[in-house]
Parts: sequence; C-alpha cells; structure tokens
Amino acid sequence: MSAENYRVCPYCPYENTDEIKEAIEQASKLEEGYDYHMALAEVDELKSKQLGYTLAEYYELGVIGNGVFHLDYWCKCEKCGYEFEITLP
Ligand SMILES: [Zn+2]
Repeated sequence: MSAENYRVCPYCPYENTDEIKEAIEQASKLEEGYDYHMALAEVDELKSKQLGYTLAEYYELGVIGNGVFHLDYWCKCEKCGYEFEITLP
C-alpha cells in the first residue's frame, strides 16, 4: 500500500489564536479514540487556514515477498524545509 499526501507541517510556526488554543485544549481533555482524533483534525484544519498544506508525505507499507513487514516513509515541508525519512527494514 502506498500514498502521497499533503498535510499541515507540525514544525512551521503558527499564530496561536484563541480558536486554536480552544481546539488544542479540547483535544487534550478527550480520551484516545474517535473523538480525540476528530479534535486533532480540527486543530489541523484551523492551522491549515494559516499555514496551508505544505508537508508532502509519501509512504509505502505492507508485507513484502519474504513475509517481512516493510515501511518506507518520507516527508518534506515546502515552507520551512523540515524533512524526515525512515525505511524499515
Ligand atoms: Zn514546515
């Protein structure tokens, strides 16, 4: 399975508006689970209005021919230059 996506970069500086502070506080109060992820998605949505979707992600994962799980992940921010890459094994 592989995918290419764009998302909000967690390393780009953003203005911490009241709306974002509230959304982060709300997310921190919820237990892990559906609501927690929805709350985090709302935080990302609010940040995306300021920052845009600048973090390009590519990943490939699954069990390969010899029965070993394989993960290949790469991301790079077009705005701040943050970059991360990992390959297992
Ligand atoms: Zn960035």
